[in-house]
Amino acid sequence: MGLADIHIHTIYSYDATTTVRGVLKQASSVGLSVIAVTDHDDIRGAFDARELASQYNLEVVTGVEVSTRDGHLLALFIDKIPPRGLSLDETLKHIGGLGGIAVAPHPFNQLPGSLSMDHVISVLNKPALKNVLRGIEVYNMTTQPFDEKVQIQSTYLPFAKTAGSDAHVYWAIGTGTTEFPGTTAAELRTSLQNATTIPHPYEEDLMRKYIFNWLRRITMRRLGYVSDHATAEAAIHTQRMDLRFTRTKRAKVKRKK
Ligand SMILES: [Zn+2]
Ligand SMILES: [Zn+2]
Repeated sequence: MGLADIHIHTIYSYDATTTVRGVLKQASSVGLSVIAVTDHDDIRGAFDARELASQYNLEVVTGVEVSTRDGHLLALFIDKIPPRGLSLDETLKHIGGLGGIAVAPHPFNQLPGSLSMDHVISVLNKPALKNVLRGIEVYNMTTQPFDEKVQIQSTYLPFAKTAGSDAHVYWAIGTGTTEFPGTTAAELRTSLQNATTIPHPYEEDLMRKYIFNWLRRITMRRLGYVSDHATAEAAIHTQRMDLRFTRTKRAKVKRKK
C-alpha cells in the first residue's frame, strides 16, 4: 500500500511558505510515495516538483486548486491550469477535457471556498461529470473542526474518500494521508477512480499550532524568507529568497450565493 498527500501548496501559492524543494524533502522524510502539488490557480510549482521528484524518491501528480465560482476544487493529473471563476460543472468539464480528475477539498461547510453538498451531489446526476469528480476530502488538517460534518454526510456518497494536509507550512506535509493499493501515481489514480482509497486523519489538536505557525511564516514570507531545501545533505532551513518569480495575481472570484 502507498501513502499520498494529495493537497499541498508551495510558494507559488500566495499564502504558502515552502519552496518546491522543501516540499519534496519533507514529503520524502515522512515516507510518502506520491504527492500532488496543488497551488491556487497555478501549476508552475507542480511542474518544478515533477521535474525534481526522482531526486527525492517520490512521484508527483501535477495539480491545481482551482477557484471555481462555487468553491475550491482540486484538479489532478493535468498539464494546464483550468480557468478560474467558472461554475463547478464547467470546471469539471474542462478538467475532463484535459484528461484529469478532481477531488472536492474541505467541502460541506460554511467556510469561504468550500463546495456545498448540493453542488457536489448534483454532479451525481451528470454521468460525464461524475467520471471527473472522483474524490471528496473528508480530512483536511486546516479545517479540522469543520470536518466531522463531511465525514458523516459523505458516508454513502460514491466518491473516493481522501485526506490531505492542505499544508501551507513545510512540517504539515503528510499530516493527512490517503492510502491506496500500490505505490505509484498511476495506481493512486486507479484507486481514486475505483473509490478504494483509505483516508488517514491528522493528529488531534494540530490546527491551533498550525495557524499560529502559519501566521509567523507568512509574515516571514512577506519579508522574503521561506522554507527551503538547498543541498542533498542539508535539512530544511529558512532562507532568504527573491520571490518575484512566484507572483501571480491573487484570484478574485465572485462566489455565487
Ligand atoms: Zn482550499
Ligand atoms: Zn489548499
